[in-house]
Amino acid sequence: MISFNHISKTYQVGDQEVKALDDVSFSIEKGKFTVILGPSGSGKSTLLNLLGGMDRATEGSFLFDDQEVTSLNDKELSIYRKDIVGFVFQFYNLVPSLTASENISIAAQLTGNVAKSEIFLDKVGLSHRKNNFPNQLSGGEMQRVSIARALAKKPKLLLCDEPTGALDSKTGQKIIELLQEASKDKNVAVVMVTHNAEFKEFADTVIYLKDGKINSIIEN
Ligand code: ADP
Repeated sequence: MISFNHISKTYQVGDQEVKALDDVSFSIEKGKFTVILGPSGSGKSTLLNLLGGMDRATEGSFLFDDQEVTSLNDKELSIYRKDIVGFVFQFYNLVPSLTASENISIAAQLTGNVAKSEIFLDKVGLSHRKNNFPNQLSGGEMQRVSIARALAKKPKLLLCDEPTGALDSKTGQKIIELLQEASKDKNVAVVMVTHNAEFKEFADTVIYLKDGKINSIIEN
């Protein structure tokens, strides 16, 4: 269980304060697919960065399995990112000089998981492309490899930042179905941020953000 309790994040820009998140509270469960929906500037990336341990809240409490993430030091936060979190990015972030299979195994090795990349390529339906380099794959295929790479780390929290943003809608839908499938693992919470309301029906929970605040939370 992951919970944000009265989290705020303020950026200082010159002599102005920008409140990117303003007193945000919600909880996220493992085995569920949570979609964070909101227009540009509503605080989605800020929220994802806090969840991923890439940034720190200004105020509030963030619990992950009863561990207070806001009180971790830099080294502990780095372990949190390495061991707990898997990331899927809009533009895949694959290493161009490594094959699909190598991209997956290198990430798994980082966490000490000697996971077989083939198992994860198979999960995303790409076993036959294991020896291809990213530039030999379509956008949808690259995103599948990046999901396989994230899953090979055996994350407890899979964070996806506009994962369909660079894909056509049909390919995007296939990717969302894959994330929905991944969220059925009761050890993993899948969280996706997007401005695209089209995908809300796939979610177990939709959190609507507006101007750094929660507008509503809908359980499907
Ligand atoms: P979204 O991802 O929904 O587009 P963001 O989380 O990127 O929203 O931004 C929320 C607000 O915080 C915006 O007003 C943005 O300009 C501001 N913001 C985000 N990051 C920074 C930063 N590093 N420094 C200053 N302001 C920021």
